[in-house]
Amino acid sequence: MLGSIAAICAYAAEHSHFYARSLRPVRSCEDFFALPMLNADDIRQHVNADGTGDLLTGPTRGSVVVSTSATSGARKIVHREFAEQHRIAEGLAMAMRLAGFTPDDRVANIFPPGGLLAAWIGMHEAVEILGATLLPVGATLPLDVEEQVRTLTWLRPTAIVGVPSMLVRLIEGGLPRVRSVLCGGEMIPPETREFMEKALGAEIALVYGNVECGTLGVQCEALRRTERYHILERDVFVEVVDRATGLPAEEGEILVTHLHRRLQPLIRYRAGDRGRRINSGCSCGLPLPVIELQGRVDELEVLVGDVRLRADDVAVAARGVPGLGERFQIRVRSSDGKEKIAIAFEGEGDLKDTVLEALLRAIPALRKLESSGALAVEVVKRGAIPTIAGKTPRIVDEREG
Ligand SMILES: [Zn+2]
Repeated sequence: MLGSIAAICAYAAEHSHFYARSLRPVRSCEDFFALPMLNADDIRQHVNADGTGDLLTGPTRGSVVVSTSATSGARKIVHREFAEQHRIAEGLAMAMRLAGFTPDDRVANIFPPGGLLAAWIGMHEAVEILGATLLPVGATLPLDVEEQVRTLTWLRPTAIVGVPSMLVRLIEGGLPRVRSVLCGGEMIPPETREFMEKALGAEIALVYGNVECGTLGVQCEALRRTERYHILERDVFVEVVDRATGLPAEEGEILVTHLHRRLQPLIRYRAGDRGRRINSGCSCGLPLPVIELQGRVDELEVLVGDVRLRADDVAVAARGVPGLGERFQIRVRSSDGKEKIAIAFEGEGDLKDTVLEALLRAIPALRKLESSGALAVEVVKRGAIPTIAGKTPRIVDEREG
């Protein structure tokens, strides 16, 4: 592994002006752990949508241009060579096989096709590698549930791939049952998963990946219903580091180094996720390390005035209210110089007052915001919390600057 890492670092330093400035030769693990981390803003500032940028190692012909959604700040552009795109699809095909997909399946790809989002194209090639039948249904943004369900009922897929929050809405619209399901793009709260699996008549397997890194982790049957993934060591080196020191840790922030990406190298990239190493291995016997995801780094907390609100505290408070789902969203806005916070929960029935009480009891600091009229709580139907490009962030900060 060290050899591959040293080779990609040397290539990056030789061909990219950005990496030439930041990297030093890697001869040992210590050398590597001393390299600077790559931030999301480094990609934004040093890679341009027109194929220029000093992080790139050469001309971008023979590549595919994809972009992150605008969920957390300005978009990040990623240039993937087609060979790399193919490796990503191979990872997705492995995720499909582990999810129970076979060449006999009719696979509906319900990822959103537009907006330069990468999952859509990767899934196409993965179905081709699998040798199954591809149904490129896609998801309209915003979702036209009735039309989508009509199309899917007509096509009769036996397997589907898509974003969980979108599938939930299609299920409520009458999505027919299938044999196998592979989801990606966001975590699924246990209660939502139960609802989905019951309605679809199939267990849901997840794949871990993102636009910047490609496919990172897959779930075998033993890892289903967990947030654990086998890491695709063939393609990526995944570190877990202490956020404060940047040193290896059992639990902390996830850094990704891509072992084969040459056009737009990715070295110690802060993928924005928190995770934990699972050292006990996996009962399935796959010789790939296991990591457990613990949520997004930037969705941990938000500061409103002098009140620090942690998303985990909100989740714990909500768990005590019967009838409330586990999905929620904290939105922070500022209007006329006043900061306002709105928390939407998904649930059944008139629970607004009960939820507010539970929140104030669990998080006393919220009382101050409540008494000044800066806190609003609402309970909406399951699936009604808006998604941004198919993702459901727990914290959405809409303040200027
Ligand atoms: Zn396993």
